[in-house]
Amino acid sequence: MYQCPGCQTTFETLPEICPHCKLSLRVLAITPILTRHDDTLIVLTACDTQLDAQIVIGRLKSEGIDAMLSGTSMQSTLGSSDAGSDPYHILVHQSDGERALRLIGSDASWTEDELTRYISMLAESTED
Ligand SMILES: [Zn+2]
Repeated sequence: MYQCPGCQTTFETLPEICPHCKLSLRVLAITPILTRHDDTLIVLTACDTQLDAQIVIGRLKSEGIDAMLSGTSMQSTLGSSDAGSDPYHILVHQSDGERALRLIGSDASWTEDELTRYISMLAESTED
């Protein structure tokens, strides 16, 4: 269940844009936090293809940000036949999160408003 932060309408399936208040909701579709081996990783963005994901990871690494891909190894381990239906998630360490988001924001066609909202979502979900 998702809730529009603009008008509080709830959705079973998240639309890209809220039909009531026209707020862009796609950042809400990303689950921002993932913990692995006591290391908190955040999901930076999701790419439709592995190639897109590799390009983004390459850009992040060229800026000194340690980025990694999730999803593919799990799919191949499980022998899933519908690999490719799930998006490729790009993970970064939480400490690099905001810098990485600002770096890839323009590539992902996120507006400044969406970036700000996602960064604040990250801050909320990492509060103890
Ligand atoms: Zn709304």
